[in-house]
Amino acid sequence: MEVNYWHETMMTDIFPFTEEGIKKYAWAELIGNYQLGCLDEDGSFRVLYVGRTTDGIRKRLSCHIGKFPDVTHFACDISSSEKMAYEQECIDYHHFKGEMGTAIYNEIHPARPAGTDYPCPVEDCTELD
Ligand SMILES: [Zn+2]
Repeated sequence: MEVNYWHETMMTDIFPFTEEGIKKYAWAELIGNYQLGCLDEDGSFRVLYVGRTTDGIRKRLSCHIGKFPDVTHFACDISSSEKMAYEQECIDYHHFKGEMGTAIYNEIHPARPAGTDYPCPVEDCTELD
């Protein structure tokens, strides 16, 4: 499905952010990234929160149910490593929090995976310094 990420057109699938929607559509894989959001009047998916997990995409999404009042839909992707999931989350965070200004529920920069000193992949980022 083609989704307008608030003025940018991308290919992604979004699903209802409900226990049933998560059970039916979210990946069961352990490592991945996800975006939570709502639909604008024109049908655009507005991302309100970005995240990553290494202990189960479906499980993590379920943990978020009820925490974000405006969230009605989610998107998610499998990642092949903790480092890649971290880097994708950083990219998503800067994109949706900084450039788009929509990721209102992300209060702080994504944390590095425990025990690592991976830099943020986004150029000129100083939020982890
Ligand atoms: Zn950063």
